[in-house]
Order: sequence, then structure tokens, then C-alpha cells
Amino acid sequence: MTIHRGSCHCGKVAFEVEGEIGEVTACNCSICSRRGSLLWFMPRAKLRLLTLEQDLGTYLFNKHAIRHRFCAQCGIHSFGEGTDPKENRVAAVNARCLDGIELSALAVKNFNGRAI
Ligand SMILES: [Zn+2]
Repeated sequence: MTIHRGSCHCGKVAFEVEGEIGEVTACNCSICSRRGSLLWFMPRAKLRLLTLEQDLGTYLFNKHAIRHRFCAQCGIHSFGEGTDPKENRVAAVNARCLDGIELSALAVKNFNGRAI
């Protein structure tokens, strides 16, 4: 199993993800369109923080269903946390924060989040 390492820009937030990166999602909702993240969805258990929880900021809006996490120092959004319809904990990692990923080679699925 591949371990991907990721971080924010300044390095204060670091994490590891276990798994093979497949399709990533580009969403056009109000927040995703602004930050331009490419989201890799996975069970939350596959995401391991290598940093202190206190170094992460949390942004909530709308129904507060998703915890948008970002570095409190450099502001980069590295992942979000939430639950799926079956109440399983999921994470959406910003593939742009992963080390050694050829972004142009990723299969991108466009999601019409604006319509939700
Ligand atoms: Zn940072």
C-alpha cells in the first residue's frame, strides 16, 4: 500500500495518507471554486495527522456538516472532514498538497456542488 505524504505550504501541517490516488474531484461550490482544491475522498481513518491538532484552523459554514481544515499559519487548505450519508467518517484531502504528485496526470471529475 502506498503512503502519500502531504503538507501545507509552511510545513506546520503535515499528514500521511494510505492508499492509491484515483479520481479526484473538482467542485464548483462557493468555497471549492475559490480555493481550487482537487479533492481525494477517503475514509477518515486513512488520513493520519503528523502535526498538532492545535495548529489546524477549522472553517465551518452553511450546515456546518464539513470541517474545512487549514493551516493557522500559512492558510493553506489541506483537507476537510465530514460524514457520508451512512454516518461513516470521511476525509477529503486536497491532492494539491501531496508530495510528488503529477497533478496534470490525475483524472479529474467535475462535481456540480453549486447546485446543492
Ligand atoms: Zn502552513
